[in-house]
Amino acid sequence: MTQESVPNLVIQGGIILDPESGKQTKADIRIENGVIAEIGSGLDAKDNPTYDASGKFISIGWMDMHVHLREPGYEHKETIVTGCKAAAYGGFTAVACMPNTNPPIHTRDVVEFIIERAEHTAVDVYPIACVSKNRAGESLAEMADLAAGGAVAFSDDGSPVQSAGLMRHALEYSSMLKKPIINHEEELSLGNKGHMHEGEVSTRLGLPGIPGLSEEIMIARDILLAEYTGGHVHVAHISTAKAVDLVREAKKKGIPVTTEVCTHHFAITDSLVETNNYHTNTKMHPPLRPQSDVDAMKQGLADGTIDAICTDHAPHASFEKEVEYISAPFGIIGLESAWGLTGREIVAPGVLSVAQAVFKLSVAPRQILHLDMPSVSVGQKANLTIFDATTDWTFGTSDIKSKSANTPFVGSPMKGKAWAVYNKGRFVNNA
Ligand SMILES: [Zn+2]
Repeated sequence: MTQESVPNLVIQGGIILDPESGKQTKADIRIENGVIAEIGSGLDAKDNPTYDASGKFISIGWMDMHVHLREPGYEHKETIVTGCKAAAYGGFTAVACMPNTNPPIHTRDVVEFIIERAEHTAVDVYPIACVSKNRAGESLAEMADLAAGGAVAFSDDGSPVQSAGLMRHALEYSSMLKKPIINHEEELSLGNKGHMHEGEVSTRLGLPGIPGLSEEIMIARDILLAEYTGGHVHVAHISTAKAVDLVREAKKKGIPVTTEVCTHHFAITDSLVETNNYHTNTKMHPPLRPQSDVDAMKQGLADGTIDAICTDHAPHASFEKEVEYISAPFGIIGLESAWGLTGREIVAPGVLSVAQAVFKLSVAPRQILHLDMPSVSVGQKANLTIFDATTDWTFGTSDIKSKSANTPFVGSPMKGKAWAVYNKGRFVNNA
């Protein structure tokens, strides 16, 4: 896999898929200096490099709005460059990265540093800045300055905004800046001693649990605050059936709330903690939930309650994860397996069509974050993902491009593959 500069390229024989209308058009695409110069059939490649996309779809480049790139501060887990490699391999040309770095993304220079570090990759990196200084939950960060530097949203992710008063003020400021507050929804007094979902399996294993209630109670609070302030709350990594119900009801009332689901929360359940023998790659926040919650994620995607699909890509080094379950950090990587799991769990069973699934991975995150929307049309910058939804493959260690390998999906069946991405004049061919 290379991430080289390929200013001119002719992509031949692919099917251009518009995720908004579902329209499919078979055509060649000629890219000149990183810009779409021509779309048509039988285009003459002349001396330019070509890519054979026959049998594959081409859409606008995908975006994962919830990743942890770990830089600055934790470069032994991931760097911006290695995170971008994992993203491109997963079919993503854009990511929004969370602020629990060291220093956290709570000053403008950190925002600018991150954007600059991603410059020579095929991926657009959008920093999400802190709600509070040091993510300490006490006083608001300089939100206007952070937004001016390029922050696209605010979050203390890794931690919730515990104080309702601070959340209220954050929503008042962020609505002036037209940016969402993304909250890691957790009432810590209910869940902070837990290591997995509180339920049948945790009882049997004797592990302290995190009840769904800790997530739901915080979402209920944030919906009330969104209604009161008019500020936009984006519920991070939703994971329970009741949480989906709360968001569904709030949307019906016209309250400005949106949400996302991580691929692992619709693909696997908390029973994996037991069957994988307490493997720490089953430990994440929110925790894996039972089948009824997994079913509710699919229902929420199908009826539009859940806007976007994300990964919460959270790299940890093996020395950090290879410890006892209760000592291990929360989180797994996800960028490389995102589409294979979406294909397997969402597209193949007919929960969503290919176009609808791609919408939640491309259009929806950019709408939520008010970003410019790429377009597969002449004169636009080429920002493309080339993929299929049918290839059966098994996720292996060679598919891991992240600096860390903490995933429970090695050896798991996948359906659908991201074959290549093109963005910023760079072509990444995953074959
Ligand atoms: Zn989180």
